[in-house]
Order: sequence, then structure tokens, then C-alpha cells
Amino acid sequence: MASSLTKDAAAQGNPANGGKTFFGHPRGLATLFMTEMWERFSFYGMRALLVLYLISGGADAETGSQGGGLAMTAASASAIYAVYMALVYLLAMPGGWFGDRVWGPRKTVIVGASVVIAGHVVLAIPGPSFFVGLAMVACGSGLLKSNISTMVGHLYNGPQDPRRDGGFTVFYMSINLGSLVAPLLFGWVGQSINWHLGFGLAAVGMALGLTQFLFGTKHLDPKSSQVPTPLTVEERNGWLRKGLLWAGIAAVFYGIVAGTGHFTLNWALVPIGVIGIAIPFAVLFRIKRDKELSPSEQGKVSSYLWFFVAAAAFWMIFDQAGSTLSLFAEKNTAKTIFGLSFPSTWLQSVNPMWVLALAPVFATMWLALARRGKEPSTTVKFAMAMVAIGASYFFFIVPIMMSAGGDKVSPMWLITVYCMQTMGELCLSPVGLSVTTKLAPVKYASQMMGVWFLANTAGDSVVSLLGIAGADLSGVGVLVAEAALATLAGVAIYLNRKRINERMGDVR
Ligand code: GLN
Repeated sequence: MASSLTKDAAAQGNPANGGKTFFGHPRGLATLFMTEMWERFSFYGMRALLVLYLISGGADAETGSQGGGLAMTAASASAIYAVYMALVYLLAMPGGWFGDRVWGPRKTVIVGASVVIAGHVVLAIPGPSFFVGLAMVACGSGLLKSNISTMVGHLYNGPQDPRRDGGFTVFYMSINLGSLVAPLLFGWVGQSINWHLGFGLAAVGMALGLTQFLFGTKHLDPKSSQVPTPLTVEERNGWLRKGLLWAGIAAVFYGIVAGTGHFTLNWALVPIGVIGIAIPFAVLFRIKRDKELSPSEQGKVSSYLWFFVAAAAFWMIFDQAGSTLSLFAEKNTAKTIFGLSFPSTWLQSVNPMWVLALAPVFATMWLALARRGKEPSTTVKFAMAMVAIGASYFFFIVPIMMSAGGDKVSPMWLITVYCMQTMGELCLSPVGLSVTTKLAPVKYASQMMGVWFLANTAGDSVVSLLGIAGADLSGVGVLVAEAALATLAGVAIYLNRKRINERMGDVR
């Protein structure tokens, strides 16, 4: 990472914009950096408030905390949160499709950002439209997330460009810069003053991101404005027909459910949870069974299945930062450090803080090991990530038990849990993105970014269904089961590393 920030800028200037660079990278990276920073600012800021807002005013809310929320139980709030997260990542796939076939990545980001702003404006208005706003934010994020990553790739001359990996590292910093600042500000505005003011702040953040994207758009690669494989008129009509048919079926079905007075939130949550598990499997199954793939591509897809299932178990635990860990921060953690008190939301900044602190350490460590020919392979890094995330939940059981009698534990417990999780994240997330693109069969190259995000969808959907089924997500039993599952996945990958590596061919 360090090297990518200190490279000789003049030598690497992009001729298209007069040689101006951003930390030695094409100037367009600055535009994408700022857009993603603001988008993550609004995403993680709202996410930090979500579960606390849903329980606020109800029996599960912390005594003395701000009222005015939806008074739900912690179990329902966690299930809604997990469904929301699953949906965000599920919609990254159609988001990629829109970029590929309908609007091109640049326009899709503009549409996505506008929908996110509108969604947050709806959330900022108190009233029953809350879930409409939430669905809009999920749709907008889905449109934006995969396309913005694609555009980072466009700035470089193909996969062989030596600056490419560094560019993605700088981009990962933007994600975490936005995620670091957001909970601090949202905790203060949303959690301490007014929830809806907090949601409004998310709209302002995304609006700033969109504005600077529109101003900086001239620095992007022209490829970002093109539609790589436009839909034909017949295809478009076919999709419209299918879309209208399914929308019609859903409208009639839910019309009957609502009309007969049976509608509860579970009628919306359960189908999304089930779809969130079914779609990732269906997509991978379709790719795996594709007869047009060469034997070497088939082998690569088989090895990818290992990484995908492991990643799903990883995100299943990791994404509970905004629910299980957030609830623990609110209800069981002392919200003072060095005598100063802070809103529980602030602890949501700890993961991005660790990312920013540890990413250079990991980059240096991999480089040092690589120089001695000892850098762990992708397979071993995945195994390490799974053991780290499993260990974080085994460790989390200690403060859970300590606080069972009503005592508040030191925030250092959660800070340590996040440290372990971040170490896992740094072994899995950047490596996973890169291996996804390298193992992708040519035919599916443009869809694979969306496929990678489906691992989040699958993991979050499992949590949502567990929550809906009444499992106590903060209970020792569930935590042990999740920790054991992740650790076992890590051990299984490690034991099978030779077989997996063989199927990966020349990819490491
Ligand atoms: N912090 C990363 C991001 O927001 C996490 C990615 C993920 O959950 N897949 O992009």
C-alpha cells in the first residue's frame, strides 16, 4: 500500500488529463475515491443507527436512551437488519447488469446515488414510509456498489497494469474513511439528538458524493460511459414482459394477503431470506454446470465454490457488527473511555479504524514474506480469515457471560473483537475480490463482481432466517455454533489446500 501512495506521480500521469495524478494514480481515481467515501459515509452512518432506531421506545431499548423509534424487539430488529444487508448485496448483481447492458457504469452510478439520496430523504421523514425508504437505499446501493468498483478497473490498462492493485487499495481506504467518520457523526446527531436528523445527514452525505462525481466525471475513462453489451430491442421487451408479469403476480399475491388482514412483516422478510440463499446457489450452480466452459475453467469454478462458501460464513458473522455487536455496545458495554462518555454508535467506527491501521501492516507483511518466497497462497489466507472470524466469536462469549448479570463491560472487549475480525477481513476481502476476477470464466467475467457480493447475501440471509425463527443471536449457543462453523470451514480449506490449488491452475 505504502508504495502505491508514494510512487512518482509525474512518471505515471494519465496523458488523457494532462499528467495530473492522484497519489500516482489516474486523476479519475480521486473522483471515484470521493464518491465511494460519501456513499459509504451515508451507508454505514445509517446502518449504525438502524437497529437502535428500530428498538428505540420498546422493551429492548436501553433505559434512558432516546425514544421515538419503532419500539420493536431486538430479535425483529436484527432480522430486519440482516434482510436489509442481504438485499443490498443481492441487488449488486442486477446493478452490474444495468451497468453492462442498459445505462453503462457511469450513468448507473448516477441513478443509484440519486435513489440512495431519495431513500434517505424518505427515512428522514417520520412516518410509516420507513421501510419504503430502506428498500430504496438498498436498491440505490446495489446499483452503485458494483459499478463504481468496475470503473476503478477501467482507469488502468488491463489486469497487467502494475498500478492496478495499488489503485484498489487506495479505493479500499476511501471505503473505510467514510465508514470511520460516519458513526462518529451519526452517533452524535442521530442517536443523541434526533433519529431522523441522522437519516437526513445520510442524504446530505450522498448528495455531496453525487455532486463531486458529476463535477469529476470528465476524469473517468471513456469506457465508463459506454454500455458494453447493450440489450437488443427483443431482449428489452422480453425483460419488460417478464418484469411486469412477476410484479403483477407479487401485487396480486400481496394484495390478497393484505386484503384479508394477514400481512405481517414476515411476509416480506421470509421470502427475501429464502431468495437470498436460493439465488447465490442457483447462480453458482448455473455457472458450474455450463457446458461451454473449458475443463480448466470448470476446475477454477470448483475451487471458487470453496472460497464462496467460506466467504458466506465469514460475512454471516462479520455483518452482525450492525446488529449483534451494536446491541451489545448499546446495552452491555460501558460507554465511557478515560472518563469521557460517548454514544454506543461510536464503537461502529472501530472496524474501519483497524482497517486503516492494519492494512499497511498486512501489505508490508505480505511483501516481506513474498520476498522470501513465503507469502501464503490465497487458499491459506482464506483459512486464516475463517479461523480469525471464528476466534472473534469464541472470544466474544467471554464479555457476553461477564455481562449476563447486568454488569457493563469495558469497551476494550468489543475493540478486541473488532481487531480479530479486521485481521480476518484483511486476509479475505481484498484477496477474495482479486481471486474472484482471476478465477472467473471468460463468459462470466463481467458478472463475477456481483457473484462475489452474493456471499454476503447468503451469509446475511442465514442470519435473518435464524432471527425470524426465534434464535437468540446474542445467545451463547448461537454464537458458539457460528464460531465453530467458521473455524471448521477454515480447517477444511486448510486441509484441502492442495486439491483446491490444483484446480486453480495458474492462479494463486
Ligand atoms: N467494508 C467493506 C465495504 O463496505 C465490506 C465489504 C463487504 O461486506 N463485502 O465495502
